[in-house]
Amino acid sequence: MIPWRSWSWLIGKQCQIQHALNLPALFTTETVKDAVTSIRRPFITFVLGGPGSGKGTQCARIASAFGVAHLSAGDLLREEISSKSTNGELIRSIIKEGKIVPSEITVNLIHKAIKSSTADKFLIDGFPRSEENRIAFERIGRIDDNIETIKKRLKVFEKLNLPVISYYSAKGKVHKISAKGSVDEIFEKVHQLFSSLKEANGFA
Ligand code: UDP
Ligand code: MG
Repeated sequence: MIPWRSWSWLIGKQCQIQHALNLPALFTTETVKDAVTSIRRPFITFVLGGPGSGKGTQCARIASAFGVAHLSAGDLLREEISSKSTNGELIRSIIKEGKIVPSEITVNLIHKAIKSSTADKFLIDGFPRSEENRIAFERIGRIDDNIETIKKRLKVFEKLNLPVISYYSAKGKVHKISAKGSVDEIFEKVHQLFSSLKEANGFA
């Protein structure tokens, strides 16, 4: 069982917020907080066993008895072949040889399947099949640690940084800019702000 969370978009937001925070007393944001509290943490069970050992059959039974979503790595790979995706031919030739598909491909398919599902409990049937598979998957697991760090940093932010912002806010020196939206959308607001600062303070 490996706890796993949806993280890619969160990291993107965090970068923006970091940029914002590099300009003290100018920005605050609730965006990261919203993102962190809305993170899902699926419960994942790997179901492993030799070919023909009945994993798929037992997974179907577990899925209906316990309401867990069943993801078969082999099925995901075969779907990729039938969808005629760019990797389809490569996957077909590897499966034909009974070899193991590159971890990056399989991990991406599993990652996508988890992300697009509304379930929060998963059986992953037939994966990881090698140490390399396991390590590639755990790399996603490790991102989880980063989320824990982000949560800690948010606590520090609230406790230590917010008073600083409040201090300047009381003096009317804080300009809040929402960090929601694309880099360009946010910069549009930043640009407006700096234009007015430039005008008010007469800097070139
Ligand atoms: N396969 C793979 N990586 C995986 C799962 C499957 O490379 O994580 C490939 C591998 O070539 C394997 C084939 O897909 O032999 C069929 O896998 P499946 O799990 O469907 O077979 P089963 O174990 O159920 O007989
Ligand atoms: Mg199977």
